[in-house]
Amino acid sequence: MSSSPIASGPLARRNSRRVIISHGAREIVVGGGAPVMVQSMTNTDTADAIGTAIQIKDLARAGSEIVRLTVNTPEAAAAVPAIREQLDRMGVDVPLVGDFHYNGHTLLTDYPECAQALSKYRINPGNVGKGAKRDTQFAQMIEVACKYDKPVRIGVNWGSLDQALLARIMDENAGRAEPWSAQAVMYEALVTSAIENAQRAEELGMAGDKIILSCKVSGVQDLIAVYRELARRCDYPLHLGLTEAGMGSKGIVASTAALSVLLQEGIGDTIRISLTPEPGGDRTKEVVVGQEILQTMGLRKFTPMVIACPGCGRTTSTVFQDLADKIQTFLREQMPVWKGKYPGVEAMNVAVMGCIVNGPGESKHANIGISLPGTGESPAAPVFIDGEKKMTLRGERIAEEFQNVVLQYVESHYGQGSHA
Ligand code: SF4
Repeated sequence: MSSSPIASGPLARRNSRRVIISHGAREIVVGGGAPVMVQSMTNTDTADAIGTAIQIKDLARAGSEIVRLTVNTPEAAAAVPAIREQLDRMGVDVPLVGDFHYNGHTLLTDYPECAQALSKYRINPGNVGKGAKRDTQFAQMIEVACKYDKPVRIGVNWGSLDQALLARIMDENAGRAEPWSAQAVMYEALVTSAIENAQRAEELGMAGDKIILSCKVSGVQDLIAVYRELARRCDYPLHLGLTEAGMGSKGIVASTAALSVLLQEGIGDTIRISLTPEPGGDRTKEVVVGQEILQTMGLRKFTPMVIACPGCGRTTSTVFQDLADKIQTFLREQMPVWKGKYPGVEAMNVAVMGCIVNGPGESKHANIGISLPGTGESPAAPVFIDGEKKMTLRGERIAEEFQNVVLQYVESHYGQGSHA
């Protein structure tokens, strides 16, 4: 037996500066020990102001605390103020981040209303310009950010690394008695690009607490290696995410694997899950996955969690799968309203179990649990509330009745005047 209790939880959060991203009265804090923020990005044509505003509303409603949109053309830049106004009219105060490449210096200068409507700019130092133009164009973007008092993300991406900087680091490497591997050179170039550009922005007059960094790659081990080093070398808040996680379960697994390791080490202040949507798929999935990573790791709470058993040969029907799915969807859909009405409800756990083997035990650990009948078991579903068996549901309407039990629990435990 161990002489001390077994410890759990992530390592202490890395100390980082505190950056505020605001829109009106809404302030999102990134870094400085604030909860890890979930953000997302639109995939509509930004020039389509209405379509983009609708998608941003959906992303914000799903829980995205910051939404980024590409600003790639004069038409897109012209649409940004209209998107902001439309969102404000709909009561959606999520801060917007403009993603700029190649022509950001021109767009931000030529479209001051766009520059003002955005709450933050993302600058990719590899895509700011070539040769002598690079420094002036980068400076131009930083000047606009300073003028309107906007924070920036210096977002390095391995697919668009600053070629001049890479060449310099390769030259330095060639001079080593024992040159580093190409992979190590790439890591060094990513980290150096992020930090040197942040320092350059500060030299140009930007406050140090207006800068967030990211170094995106698409390999899990690459991301972990690069961010560990970035975290060691600076105290700017860090935006985590794979640059292209992929589709379906592959994208979810890769993002979860990479981000979990870093978050467990206390690294990361805001996350974005770059999932490739299935054709016709829902863009908000990237928000749900981001929230689920943080919630399952115990870092934040967003939505009541449904614990469901995986099912096995003891249950041949899909009743419990249907019920688990229905309840999880129901809970998630209620959250935009419940958040204000039932404070603390996001910490609730609901268990939906397939049979009596683990059903009653698991149900007792949840706030509310139901143990459905397995094959050959009597058609009765005991319901446990705060560890005690309170009732047994029977018949065709178990799902509806259980949903009502959940609703009553939420009202009595988290509603006004409750003592939970
Ligand atoms: S609770 Fe029952 S049905 Fe579910 S996995 Fe365990 S034994 Fe199988």
